[in-house]
Amino acid sequence: MKKAERIKNTLQETKERRKTQRPVVFQLKLQNLSKQRIEKLKRAFLEAKWFYNWLVSDLDRLNRPANKVGMVEVKVGDVFEERELIILGSQIKQEIADRLKDNLRALSKLKQNGHKVGQLKPKKFVNSIALKQYGVSYKLDFVRNRVRIQKLGSFRVLGLHQIPDNAEIANAVLVSKPSGYYLHVTCYLPKDSLQKEPIGEAIGIDFGVGYKLTLSNGIKIDYEIHETQKLKRLQKRLARAKKGSNNRSKIRHLLRREYEKITNRRRDAQNKILAFLRLYDKVVFQDDNVKNWSKLFGGEVHSSGIGGLKARLRNSLATPIPVGRFEPTTQECFICGKKHRLSLSDRVIQCECGWRQDRDLNAALVILKKGLGLSPNQAVGLDRPELTPLERKASARILGSNPYIRVSFLIEGGSPLLQ
Ligand SMILES: [Zn+2]
Repeated sequence: MKKAERIKNTLQETKERRKTQRPVVFQLKLQNLSKQRIEKLKRAFLEAKWFYNWLVSDLDRLNRPANKVGMVEVKVGDVFEERELIILGSQIKQEIADRLKDNLRALSKLKQNGHKVGQLKPKKFVNSIALKQYGVSYKLDFVRNRVRIQKLGSFRVLGLHQIPDNAEIANAVLVSKPSGYYLHVTCYLPKDSLQKEPIGEAIGIDFGVGYKLTLSNGIKIDYEIHETQKLKRLQKRLARAKKGSNNRSKIRHLLRREYEKITNRRRDAQNKILAFLRLYDKVVFQDDNVKNWSKLFGGEVHSSGIGGLKARLRNSLATPIPVGRFEPTTQECFICGKKHRLSLSDRVIQCECGWRQDRDLNAALVILKKGLGLSPNQAVGLDRPELTPLERKASARILGSNPYIRVSFLIEGGSPLLQ
């Protein structure tokens, strides 16, 4: 077999295998970093920036073999100076060039489709370095809890225990954050390892104002992560600090670290909610922003508010059923389908058919019914939403482990609690 053919076959095999797998990204933190080590890491990100900007400033340079480039010109003020790439491995350089080519291709496609596109600009910071090939650009040592990165050396890492034995390790990204250096490792796990015993068949979600979620089984979930006092203090200090001073850049760094902390809290709250919802076979929610979701689909979701949660719901759950965005759900009686006119202050829906329910719970039930495509007759069994002991236990275990999530139950003892 020729080499090209072999590569093609391997790619095909990988593609087939991926169908039975799901990607999971694990975050590892680089630990015990000496000053020397930190300097080396800083230099790596700096070199990555130099190299990227060198390529961007003259795109013809992309035609040369990227891995062979050892010297680049860097603009310092108005003049160009030569800089040597000491730490950037050949694989890493190749990856930077490949990523850039991909971006250019995407841009020209947009242009073809009539979109206005600008030119790629040089970057002020590079905060991530892709390590594409496991075993070449990086390698994990599970016995000694270390990672070896091409040309950067070996580092102690925290968090390796998260990666299960049956994981197929793929690419990684070295990330520089205000709180330190991290490795985001993408692994592929068999799909069936996700399947736990479901605690319920299907659940409907009504997203309320702010962060409130009401589930069709009567659980209300609320999470709110405010800006911290420390953040406010730092913002004040920054406003007073002299421009260009060392003090100012120090405060900026502390501020970035504080932002990161808050983002992590939000993300953790989301993770817990998703983990709980994953215990159901089907999850139904209102699809009110399809366009944004498709934009986010596949990419990392940065938003940490409710929009981010919805997008992650869509991407991470095995069988979410979105209900169409123009379906009126909140104003409709769950039992007879009569449309009501509720104002925001009406917390309860009271229908002539005798149905009386918390309005959000009613909406969650309507969403569930529509999502499952049930006719009013078929939905009869749903009209008495019950919270099973299993659900109550699971919600306490998963949601209760995050201090920013508040859980309340609208249903006590198996029958709807009506105010
Ligand atoms: Zn009714």
